[in-house]
Amino acid sequence: MSTRILTDFNLLIPETVSEALDILDRLQDKVTVVSGGTDVLVALKFGFENENVMSLAKLPGMDGLSFDPEKGLRVGAKTTIAQLLESPEVKKYYPAIWEAAVTFATPQIRNTATLVGNLLRGSPAGDGSCAVYALGGSLVFTSKEGEREVDIDNLWVGYATTARKPNELATELRIPAPSVGNINAFKRLTRVNEDLAKLNVAVSMTMNGNVCEEARVAMGCVAATLVRLKQAEALLKGAEINDESLAKVMSAVEAEITPIDDQRSTAEYRKMVSGVIVKRTIEQARQRV
Ligand SMILES: Cc1cc2nc3c(=O)[nH]c(=O)nc-3n(C[C@H](O)[C@H](O)[C@H](O)COP(=O)(O)OP(=O)(O)OC[C@H]3O[C@@H](n4cnc5c(N)ncnc54)[C@H](O)[C@@H]3O)c2cc1C
Repeated sequence: MSTRILTDFNLLIPETVSEALDILDRLQDKVTVVSGGTDVLVALKFGFENENVMSLAKLPGMDGLSFDPEKGLRVGAKTTIAQLLESPEVKKYYPAIWEAAVTFATPQIRNTATLVGNLLRGSPAGDGSCAVYALGGSLVFTSKEGEREVDIDNLWVGYATTARKPNELATELRIPAPSVGNINAFKRLTRVNEDLAKLNVAVSMTMNGNVCEEARVAMGCVAATLVRLKQAEALLKGAEINDESLAKVMSAVEAEITPIDDQRSTAEYRKMVSGVIVKRTIEQARQRV
């Protein structure tokens, strides 16, 4: 039940990364990291408790993004959804992320919420997470032991559970440079923008003319974690994209997912529309060829 009254906790506000790593090392899972706070604050109001909360607000750096045609996109842990929207490189080379950002909640939330926080919330409905899953990439974790890079394919290990260790601070998201012929897109179904998705999809495909050479297809809200639709990906790989191949992909998607009923939608509806939304997302991506 939401009480709107937060339980007591010690608020820790380190001013250097080294200080933050010391805190994490000392307190381990007795401290919760808060970045934008748009998930953590809601959780605290709904009864989640921890003795200590560590804010990243005063940590220097980690709040920008950069693009290099060779190295790809680097997104700092404190970079907000609004900053992604303002980036011409994100819009041009990673439209899946840009489209996830443009439909993300409200301006107030976009100004505060971070993409890295979205990944680490581990929600199966995360819009930014869905886009990043399709694009591929890795999350950099830093601890007193050094740096560790976790492939996005291995980040979510269960509902709201990630591969992050209690002493680790996520510092940067890395997304590879788009391959020649890459197209990508994101779409979601939702009641209103302020609400989380009923279903979200992102695709990233390497095209050679009308033939798809490689594909990654990510879907949210149909399992305990975001999923990659491996059967759909296998059907797309090597296929010419036309009505016939897309019809096969649509059937495969419906067969591949086992969604559940929840407050946002029903399993039946999700299954029924899943193929259609994948097809439309592929068509949206293809408009950019
Ligand atoms: C009204 C409202 C609307 C929303 N709409 C959407 C929506 O449309 N789409 C969507 O996907 N989400 C939505 N959300 C959820 C939320 O805004 C996102 O998940 C957001 O991206 C979380 O980012 P944050 O920086 O606020 O994370 P926080 O709440 O600060 O943290 C989220 C999780 O990540 C961990 N964490 C964050 N940063 C680090 C770090 N650097 N190192 C280690 N751990 C870290 C925290 O400990 C926590 O577990 C909405 C939330 C609200 C309140």
